Amino acid sequence: MAKLISAMTKGGDVICYVIDSTDIVARAEQIHKTSSAVTAALGRLLTAASMMGARLKGEMDSINLQLRGDGPAGSFLAVGESTGNVRGYVQNPLVELPLNSKGKLDVAGVVGTDGFLYVVRDFGFGEPYIGSTPIVSGEIAEDITHYYATSEQTPTVCALGVLVNTDLTVINAGGFIIQLLPGASEDAIEKIEANVSRISPITELLSEGKSPEDMAGMLFEDFEYDILEQRTTEYHCDCSRERVERILISIGTDDLRQMAEEQPTTEVKCHFCPKVYEFSSEEVRRLADGAK
Ligand code: ZN
Repeated sequence: MAKLISAMTKGGDVICYVIDSTDIVARAEQIHKTSSAVTAALGRLLTAASMMGARLKGEMDSINLQLRGDGPAGSFLAVGESTGNVRGYVQNPLVELPLNSKGKLDVAGVVGTDGFLYVVRDFGFGEPYIGSTPIVSGEIAEDITHYYATSEQTPTVCALGVLVNTDLTVINAGGFIIQLLPGASEDAIEKIEANVSRISPITELLSEGKSPEDMAGMLFEDFEYDILEQRTTEYHCDCSRERVERILISIGTDDLRQMAEEQPTTEVKCHFCPKVYEFSSEEVRRLADGAK
């Protein structure tokens, strides 16, 4: 299970979310069989989606992060629930690029630097809220930071990291989101900036055995603060046969009838998890009748 915490300074100036998302990203790699660079990209997006989901108030609320860049991996999607559970999908999981000039996995290379990050907040009813921001670096953390600054006018620092083994398994993954709350004092802002600039990369801290609580302590050094919440989160898909039936019905009567004619069984694979749903031509015909 991944570990997610939130903490706030006693004066109410700053809030932070910190996650050790190693298990989430490891599961995503197993499901999607991603190349190392795509594991890093999808893993960072899932890590952000878990923290951003956990910020939501309503039980039915969810957040979709859609990253549509011009890189060879195509578009990325991560869905965060208000529980902090996440699921994700990438168009071309196998794309691999050489390490970048800094010797790191080339996340910006597989994502692309031209395109948009779409953030869709779904409240479980009514119209979802959609915000978008141009991709600034393709490294994802900067793109999330930019989204908060421009779309939500919330000064934010986001850091995300994924470390991948040479055998493609995930060593560790994690991230933090720090936000200034309305009315934050100049003194608090200065101290936070200093703490953020001092902190080591998140994967390095995880390799040293640091926990989310330890990292919150580093981010809030010289502050008094409270841990608001500690929870475990996981890669979780909530697909079901009923949901797949609804998707099939939306295809329309004529196309469903044709599918029933042409193939004895129709297979529908979930985008987010390894589940495959099979429908006999008889069942597809019944759905076609229901689609009228
Ligand atoms: Zn599924």
